[in-house]
Amino acid sequence: MKNEFKNRILIQDVFKSKLKKVEIAGWVKNSRALGKIRFIVLKDISGDIQITAPEKKVDKKVFDIMDEIPRESVISIKGEVKDSKQAPGGKEIIPSEIIILNKAEELLPIDVSEYSKTELPKRLDYRFLDLHREKIQAIFKIQSTILSGFREFMIKEKAIECIFPSIISSSSEGGTELYKLKYFEKDAYLSQSCQLYKQMLACSMEKVFTVFTVWRAEKHNTTRHLNESRQLDFEMAFADEFVVMDVLARCVQYIIKKILKENEKELKELNVKLVVPKVKYLTFEEVSKLMKKDKVHMDKDDLTSDVEKKLGELYKNTIIFVHDWPISGKPFYIMPKDDKLSHGFDAIYQGVEITSGGQRIHLPDLLIERLKAKRLNPKNFKSYIESFKYGAPPHAGWGMGLERLTMLILGLNNIREVVLFPRDRDRLTP
Ligand code: ATP
Ligand code: MN
Repeated sequence: MKNEFKNRILIQDVFKSKLKKVEIAGWVKNSRALGKIRFIVLKDISGDIQITAPEKKVDKKVFDIMDEIPRESVISIKGEVKDSKQAPGGKEIIPSEIIILNKAEELLPIDVSEYSKTELPKRLDYRFLDLHREKIQAIFKIQSTILSGFREFMIKEKAIECIFPSIISSSSEGGTELYKLKYFEKDAYLSQSCQLYKQMLACSMEKVFTVFTVWRAEKHNTTRHLNESRQLDFEMAFADEFVVMDVLARCVQYIIKKILKENEKELKELNVKLVVPKVKYLTFEEVSKLMKKDKVHMDKDDLTSDVEKKLGELYKNTIIFVHDWPISGKPFYIMPKDDKLSHGFDAIYQGVEITSGGQRIHLPDLLIERLKAKRLNPKNFKSYIESFKYGAPPHAGWGMGLERLTMLILGLNNIREVVLFPRDRDRLTP
């Protein structure tokens, strides 16, 4: 088959190269007529460029067609590159041929201009079109850097990437609500975390990581919860919570450095002043004291969103590790320290929890005891408990919300902004 676009170059390369005759393709960002000149600003994934057609210098067909192309239409253009003082970026193209590949309808369902005022729900209904905006593309280009940064960092740490099942036979953690589904004759559930699997893996492969989709059937409708979200998970053998907190801190710092290096343009587009975060360690007790001083209400075994917010104000641009967490506020698989405290921790960044983690229980009897203490039935965790009976080392790990991290890095105030197609209480499409 003939590749119609084999000569196409990206718009950024028009600016970078010294080519005089080029072929480009993309979306019409806007167009205008000024006396006997027609203008189009054409955009592709790499940038935009002005197409200038003075009536006297271009073919009549080309001149006429420029009047008929609604914005967001897809066109391909052959033309000559000219230096121009007036054109943005210093170059423009005088077209010799224009082909309309897809003519957009005149009336767009949402505003896709730079200063779009269309509200988020409507934008999400038309996400495919919302993604024509550079600002929106910038969010997901940065999220792509977060994902590749996570992988790169983990591979450098010599961790092994693993893939886990998403359909499970019973609750892996207890607590959160699960989505139930029919699995032939049996009932099954969508996974709410890969906790138990990554632990089993760390007990043979030592250092493992994954990007894992989780489903939580919680009816909350907040700006920081989704019903389907992605987690960056890490688990490591022969380690306690302090070892993996350090891994987490270096991981987030690595990711943010990579964004600073690779996404300068996108950060500018989104008007984000990003800095590599510092690290602060606090015990749960120390947080209690801080909150007492500032008169913020503190629960006995968890951090409320107000406490997280306050911590964010006290320690800006800092990954705050809250450790020595009360055992009653942590899941059954977290290793107890004594009868009150545990080896569990949370990490707070810009006033919101990004990660929970800790040292896990690797001793079957202790696990059974903790399951019972949490009023869970050890029978439902048979294969999990068994996995620690035949040689399981002490291990620790964490799970970090990809969307939470993206939202906080970009300073956005609704998590739905950083999910291409969010699933929340009210939304199942697109
Ligand atoms: P929270 O207390 O903020 O509701 P959690 O303690 O229930 O979160 P964990 O089970 O600790 O969540 O999950 C690990 C990480 O995954 C969280 O720190 C957070 O970054 C992210 N996360 C958890 N639940 C959600 C959700 N419903 N939507 C988006 N991200 C989530
Ligand atoms: Mn948590």
